Amino acid sequence: MTADHHHAHALRRQGELAVLRYVHANPGSTRAQMAKALALGTGSATEITTRLRARKWIDEIDGPKTGTRGRPSPTLVPHPKGPLVCAVEIGHERWRMAIVELGAGIVEERSGRHGARDAESVLAALRKQIAGASRECLPRLRAISVAVSGTVQRGRIVQSTLGWSNVGIEALRIRPGMALLLGNDASLGGVAEARRGAGRGVAVLLHLTIEVGVGGVLVVDGRPVLGASGAAGEFGHMPFGDRTLRCPCGAHGCWDLEVDGRAMARHLGQPPPRDPRSAAERTLRDALGGASRARKAVASVTAAFGRGAGALVSALDPDRITLSGLARELATAAPDALECAYRDALMSFRREAPPPFALSALGTDGVLLGAAEVAFDEVLSDVRLAGELR
Ligand SMILES: [Zn+2]
Repeated sequence: MTADHHHAHALRRQGELAVLRYVHANPGSTRAQMAKALALGTGSATEITTRLRARKWIDEIDGPKTGTRGRPSPTLVPHPKGPLVCAVEIGHERWRMAIVELGAGIVEERSGRHGARDAESVLAALRKQIAGASRECLPRLRAISVAVSGTVQRGRIVQSTLGWSNVGIEALRIRPGMALLLGNDASLGGVAEARRGAGRGVAVLLHLTIEVGVGGVLVVDGRPVLGASGAAGEFGHMPFGDRTLRCPCGAHGCWDLEVDGRAMARHLGQPPPRDPRSAAERTLRDALGGASRARKAVASVTAAFGRGAGALVSALDPDRITLSGLARELATAAPDALECAYRDALMSFRREAPPPFALSALGTDGVLLGAAEVAFDEVLSDVRLAGELR
């Protein structure tokens, strides 16, 4: 191939990539809307979508009738035989797996409770689940993306709420060459919230969530800020807590220990719960039922969360703070405790108009959708596509 040919190919691929990314971010748009957003002429738009249909990446279906003149522009949808990614969530008590198509639609989903909780057993069980995806889906899988409830550094789990340390996930690669990605669950939940949820369109988003401990991420223009080694966003291990308490992470006084089911149990004089998330749910139910000790425990935990959120605003200056998991429930159950502690922790110049809290719009799907987002970032990259679209 000549240099000119290479150049023409690269240009063509850029056009295809732009259209694929647009369809992924805006599923259900028409070809005309896409052409307008990407400043493509009608001819180029038709030519590119025709190529992508032939390659089974996207499809076109009849669009909505518009006005009285002319044919309606077709709606761009994922191809029924198009590329898929597998998103896996490894939580403290349960796992979930979803097969996701372009545009973030979930086409297949499973979930369950961990049997044995050691890394080898959990990964072996998950590998079976992934390999057990339906026969229509398996050959179309381009990437596996794992969200773990733990700290991730340089592609390995360095510590997790399941007690794992220094664990790789290579065992999940069911086919050679398939992309394999690993991230922290809270960070991935934030990516999804920024792109498809309550943080959509926000330039600088702080996402906070509580499951066991508190985690989150700063997302700038849709990209998570993950630090030099990928381990940023461990907000729960900042010393906003009681210095006499040692955290399982090895540090003392972590914020983590003040904001979840473990903290609630301490306030109630109960022993540390085996599953802090379920324990927190029970305390919340008691509080909403009017039990005064449970209400006090919920208010204390919510206030500890609000103070830390205020400190993070001083550090990171976000436009908005999205809340998911138990953080979302605390904000709903004890809004006054949250607001009061938050404002109290803010520097006075911010009190007039502090960054507002917004409740997660994605609910329990956020983490899986975030894992799928970063998987599609990889699938829709120039390098991957150069290998596929020849
Ligand atoms: Zn800690």
